[in-house]
This record gives sequence, C-alpha cells and structure tokens, in this order.
Amino acid sequence: MSQEANMRRVTAIKNGTVIDHVPAGKALSVLKMLGIGGNMSNPVSLVMNVPSKKMGGKDIIKVEDRELTQNELDRLALVAPDASVAIIRAYTVAEKLEINLTQEVKNVARCTFSNCITTNHREPLPHRLVVTKRDPLELRCRYCGKTQDIEGLVDNLL
Ligand SMILES: [Zn+2]
Repeated sequence: MSQEANMRRVTAIKNGTVIDHVPAGKALSVLKMLGIGGNMSNPVSLVMNVPSKKMGGKDIIKVEDRELTQNELDRLALVAPDASVAIIRAYTVAEKLEINLTQEVKNVARCTFSNCITTNHREPLPHRLVVTKRDPLELRCRYCGKTQDIEGLVDNLL
C-alpha cells in the first residue's frame, strides 16, 4: 500500500492530534491511557490494523479539537512507546511530539499487587514505578519491588 493511499484512508482533521504507529490492536489501550472515552465529547476516529512496512500492522488515532499535552503523551510509553504524534492546526502538521519513557513512571498507574503498601489508603503515597527494562518494557514498583503486569497496569490507571 502506498503512503498516499494510507493517508487517504483516514479523513483529514482540521485541528487536533494524530497518534500514528500505535502497535496493531493497542488503540483501545491508548485511549484508556489518555482517559478518552465516555465523558469526552471530542470526536475520535480509530483506524485499526493498517498495513505498515515498519511494523507489519498499526493503529492510527485521531482526536479532533484537542491538542494532547506532553504529559498525557508520556503515559503512552506504557503501551505505545514508538508511536509518532502530530498536532494538527488548519489541516497541517504544526508540531511533532515524541513520547518519552522516563526512568520512573510517577502517578500514572497503581502497583498491580494487592498487598502493596500503596494500596493502603491510610498511607497515601505517590505511585512510583521504576523502568528496569525498555524493550520489552519492564517496570517494578518502587515500594514492594514486584515486577508489574503491564496489561494489568492499564486497568490500574489513576
Ligand atoms: Zn507495589
């Protein structure tokens, strides 16, 4: 499939954010990470399983009339670390942003172990997950030291 055909597959948006090169099948996790769902009124279009030379298959997400912040995008490191992000203004790419995976993922998701100290509500602690490996991604809880279940983390978002 040509680049042009790929472009035409998704309707151009006037203003908003395009997240490209999301691993195939991860688009819904990305939306979850961003808190995009029921209570957000912006139109969102999803294209899943687009053939991609680089990745075999990929998902593309377009969020209209909303420019995602760097802070929001950095959450995506957990599910789509290599996604490319473009801010669209007046149908053209105004800015390209990168997703950064920091050394520590703070206050994004809670530890997936139920007997971790962070689940004790009488002791409110910041939720801190340390990146111990990048590819594939491995995270450990700063407090209990347990290796996190990445799929489980997506359900443990704060
Ligand atoms: Zn823990």
